[in-house]
Formats: sequence, structure tokens, C-alpha cells
Amino acid sequence: MGSRGYPTCLIIPVGPLHVEFSQVVNLKNVEKENPELREGGRYTPKDCKALQKVAIIIPFRNRDEHLKYWLFYLHPILQRQQLDYGIYVINQDGEETFNRAKLLNVGFTEALKEYDYDCFVFSDVDLIPMDDRNIYKCYNQPRHLSVSMDKFGFRLPYNQYFGGVSALSKEQFQKINGFPNNYWGWGGEDDDIYNRLVFKGMGISRPDAAIGKCRMIRHMRDTKNEPNPQRFNKIAHTKETMKSDGLNSLTYTVIKTDKFQLYTKITVDIGSPKS
Ligand code: BGC
Repeated sequence: MGSRGYPTCLIIPVGPLHVEFSQVVNLKNVEKENPELREGGRYTPKDCKALQKVAIIIPFRNRDEHLKYWLFYLHPILQRQQLDYGIYVINQDGEETFNRAKLLNVGFTEALKEYDYDCFVFSDVDLIPMDDRNIYKCYNQPRHLSVSMDKFGFRLPYNQYFGGVSALSKEQFQKINGFPNNYWGWGGEDDDIYNRLVFKGMGISRPDAAIGKCRMIRHMRDTKNEPNPQRFNKIAHTKETMKSDGLNSLTYTVIKTDKFQLYTKITVDIGSPKS
């Protein structure tokens, strides 16, 4: 029995799921299909004690069509997984170059102000799991969840790959001083995070390739998210930079918080590469 006399939740998965992106998603219908959600995209299992309290953090800008698919597919999965969860979409304000890892640091910090989450799942908005046995929770070691993506032929592009969807407990995240704040533009930040984990003596846990299958929603490259030419040089210096670049140097300004039924949207000014 868990606390409050409730039994620990039992997960009954479906297994492989059909995932496709041909129909347009209507969010009003998604709301109706998920009546047990609370404002801000929160859910707590009713008659049992969830294994973990999970904040799902999604870095975001101008991808509303993708977010609709993500909400449509993920809410039912996360409820079947019996997680006590909340959805946080961290929207980068303005037109500056995109900074995924800094937005994830903001998400970690802001989610903790709302609830005592013990696990953080960091997910790109365009990645949908194809099997609900891929549990969106934390493990003894940092977890890489998007291990067989369709765009990479359902395999890892390289062994150290840690991009797409990952899960870190609060302790694991704090141990590595969070994520880097100064990777502006596409690429490298996930490799830097991988380096941080390794330098702190951790390893990566992963589901097997069948359970870890996922689909990426096809899209054109975003404007203001060009490949970052500095990334190769940066990932060669993680060991030194991680001490002073991360949670302990994070600055930002929240512009607006919207509590929708299906998610919490936090619009944030994270500055620019020069600031
Ligand atoms: C980049 C990563 C990216 C990976 C797969 C690497 O070269 O540094 O950020 O996730 O390629 O596309």
C-alpha cells in the first residue's frame, strides 16, 4: 500500500500504437476525450498512488500544429501510465535565435515552483512514442526515451545520442548543474548534456529498440534555428564550462503564463546570444 492507504498504481499498457499525422487535430475534442485533466494539463491518478510526479517540459516556438498532435497522442498515454503529471510548454518570446536547452532549464525551474515534481521529461514537440510501454518516468540513471526514431531508420544515429526525449530525476538534473544556457541555434546541446552526465559518473538507461520506437512530425527547418557553427568547439569543453554554465547561471523573465485545460504555456524572455 502507498501513502494515504492507496495501493500503488498498476499500469496496463496497450503496447504498439498507431501513430500518423494525416488528420487535423481539434483541441476541443482532445479536451472532451480527456475529462480527468485539471487546469494546466495536470493529472493525478484517482484511486491509486502514482509511482512518480513527472513534469513534462516542451521547448517551443511557433509549432502549434505539432503541439496539437503531441497533446492528442500523449495525454491518453500518460494517463494509462498512471503518472501524476503536468505539461509545461516553454515558449521562447521574440525573434532571437532559438535556445532549446535554456528553455528546458526554465521549464525545470518554473515547474518546481508549482509542485513538488521528482522527475522531469524533456521532450521535443514533434516526437510521438509508438509504444506505451515506453514509460515517461525516471530511472536510476538518466533515461533516453527516443531511441528508435523513424527519421534515423528506427535506430540510434550514434551511441552517445541523447536528443529528442529524455528523463532526469530532480537529483540527476541538479547534479549536472542543469543544462547549458549558451547553445543558440540547432545542435550540440544534447551532446553537451550527455557529456555532463558522463563527467558526473552517470550512464544512460534506455528502453529496447522496439519499445523505444517513435515518429517525428515532418517539418521544414525553422527560421532562427540555424545549425550552430560553434557547437563542435563547445562540446569539446563541457568539462570546464558545466561548472559555471547551467542552473547556477540561469537568468530569464517570464512574460506570461497561460493555464489551458491541456497544458501550461509559459512565455519567457531568455535574452540573446550577446546578452
Ligand atoms: C548534433 C545533435 C543532434 C544529432 C542528431 C549532432 O551532430 O550535435 O544536436 O541531435 O546530430 O541530429
